[in-house]
Amino acid sequence: MTSAVSIVADAPHGLTRCRVCRGSEGDMVGCIPAVPVSLWPTGKPPHPAFDLELFVCKKCGHLQLQTMTPDFVSRFYEDGSFVEDNSAGHDDRLRAFKERFGEGFFIGRTILDVGGGNNPFVGCIDGAKERWVSDIAVSDAAAAQADQTVAGNFITAAFPDVTFDVVTLFHTLEHFAEPDRAVERLADVVCPGGLVLIEVPNAEGFTRAVPHYGAFHQHQSYFHRASLDGLMHSFGFDHDHLFREDNVLLVAYRRRSEASSAPMKVDLFTGAAIARLRQKMIEKIDKILREKFSSMQRIAIYGAGGSTTMFLTLLPWLRERVVGVFDRDVGKHGRYIPGTGVCVDPPDQVDSCKTDAMLFLSTQLFDSLAQRYKTPAFDVGAILDSVGREEYVVGLQHVHVRGKADAS
Ligand SMILES: [Zn+2]
Repeated sequence: MTSAVSIVADAPHGLTRCRVCRGSEGDMVGCIPAVPVSLWPTGKPPHPAFDLELFVCKKCGHLQLQTMTPDFVSRFYEDGSFVEDNSAGHDDRLRAFKERFGEGFFIGRTILDVGGGNNPFVGCIDGAKERWVSDIAVSDAAAAQADQTVAGNFITAAFPDVTFDVVTLFHTLEHFAEPDRAVERLADVVCPGGLVLIEVPNAEGFTRAVPHYGAFHQHQSYFHRASLDGLMHSFGFDHDHLFREDNVLLVAYRRRSEASSAPMKVDLFTGAAIARLRQKMIEKIDKILREKFSSMQRIAIYGAGGSTTMFLTLLPWLRERVVGVFDRDVGKHGRYIPGTGVCVDPPDQVDSCKTDAMLFLSTQLFDSLAQRYKTPAFDVGAILDSVGREEYVVGLQHVHVRGKADAS
């Protein structure tokens, strides 16, 4: 097979400045070679690719990607942007907030939704004094659910003379090239005693559950509980409540009444431990799958998302054997899986594709769909899950025990 990727000559390398503490020294704790610039089904190969590097800051421990210019980041979205729809969780979030802060919590308050340009959380709030949405671009549908919109980068956008009682950022902070400046800006726009409600992928839980998707270029920062607390604390926010700590972190922070910056609380081991865990899990999964599929030369995959692209990028020997990829999304049909010469087809063509096995990366999809097809199906999700559980016990738990011992 001819190479389906072409390495971008001017791709960025190295960490020039920590995204959280601005320190200039980082340890490289991982490198994924030849990651396609476009993660989602795309045009004909060859597909531009670059080496994705993971760093841990030596000064604050923040886990993050190499420094990337805004121009380079914009290339990720050139080939049709993929909008993550996080609105599915809005009802659950609202319920959790009301449970904690009271049924009438949002009534009469001024609320800002940062990053809600597509499906704003403020759209499900009744009785607020004012509902604002800030995002790079705000869709007409989102604007219709808000009283005010501010288009542009939150860090530099001009806000009229207003402060907010509550600011929400759901799956937003990990995308900022400068999350420190974003949090600094939060301190400017939140009133004393006001709340910031943040949800981010939890690098710890997410890496354990979906290790192959534990690092990819759309997420520039990888937070865990201590690192998020540390960043918020340094700009004048106290931890108020932890709602969730599984694949995501959902946390409330309260702005101190005296605007004050504080020395950052530093956790130097968890970020590095997550990176090590990720690497170990990938190696183990590689080994298990090589054995399992040793006699299978023609492989199909169900599901053509970013997670599939990262999975195949990490296992190039498996990618070479892929002869079919199937997905229900008609928008993906006829487009190529990044890094391959294989097109996405509709699922009704599964049985006419001659394959030795079809892989499902998620147990949920395997359980609901595998029996429909004659092709032998494999639940790779179950393998990921068992490796995650096994490695977690010996990996991160150990770190937490050590961290507690060091703190006491
Ligand atoms: Zn740092």
